[in-house]
Amino acid sequence: MKLGAIEAGGTKFVCGIADENGSVLERVSFSTETPEITLQKVYDFFKDKGVEAIGVGSFGPIDPNPNSETYGYITKTPKKYWSDFNLIGELQKNLNVPLAFDTDVNGAALGEATWGAAKGLKNCLYLTVGTGIGGGALVSGKLVHGMLHPEMGHIIVKRHPEDIYEGKCPFHKDCFEGLASGPAIEERWGTKAYELPVDHKAWELEAYYIAQALVNYILIVSPEKIVLGGGVMKQLQLFPLIRKNIKEILNNYVQTKEILENIDEYIVSPKLGDNAGLLGGIALALKI
Ligand code: ADP
Ligand code: ZN
Repeated sequence: MKLGAIEAGGTKFVCGIADENGSVLERVSFSTETPEITLQKVYDFFKDKGVEAIGVGSFGPIDPNPNSETYGYITKTPKKYWSDFNLIGELQKNLNVPLAFDTDVNGAALGEATWGAAKGLKNCLYLTVGTGIGGGALVSGKLVHGMLHPEMGHIIVKRHPEDIYEGKCPFHKDCFEGLASGPAIEERWGTKAYELPVDHKAWELEAYYIAQALVNYILIVSPEKIVLGGGVMKQLQLFPLIRKNIKEILNNYVQTKEILENIDEYIVSPKLGDNAGLLGGIALALKI
């Protein structure tokens, strides 16, 4: 079976084809421009490819509710040209196959649970820490939507006592994303995040914020595994710092093996690497 995936990102789009076992057969990527230019490249890629369904994982906020009038839309986004854009409606006009639609992070959570770091688990959480921060959650085998979809990046965290940076979120200033996204790190320290040395204070603050957020997610949805992706998480020194902070904050309150004994296998990197988003789309397509 040939399935298609579209990873619709604010910076780049990735299109690909894989089989039902998650083997990627082909992929392309191009930068996100206006919808007209970008979607034409999507149509060109899928033309005559013979895929049976396509899963679309998109940057948000989106409307993933099939019963809503604005189902398939990218809703209010600061991203120029894409606010209130009927993504699925436009794609459906040109791609004559069933389309699945969800947030990029819900897709990634499902992809990791199907073939990756959370393989076989029915409860897992995927968080990306990159240009923005967003999370997807699989709970009892189902992706969480509810009223809209989770917006895990915009939760409130306690400020680090030494942090005087005002925060970068255009809505809340110092929410989790406002304090811990890649651009927040870069504005706070006045340098590219990847150029900061591994022992820089930046990573202590970063781990402090990420750990607080993860503690909240652990206490609310009780995932069996947490997968941390996105550009900032390429700083692997963050992982032990985050795990240590989580243990300190929880203070033996959650008495599970995952946290008390195996936290190294509980908070992990994505296993699908650069194909995480793409295989997320394929996993969404498989569910149709
Ligand atoms: P996006 O969120 O746009 O899909 P990424 O997840 O790659 O893309 O996030 C990009 C952001 O992550 C950049 O703005 C930068 O701040 C940060 N970043 C990217 N690579 C690294 C790195 N190696 N180390 C630390 N931060 C990084
Ligand atoms: Zn915010």
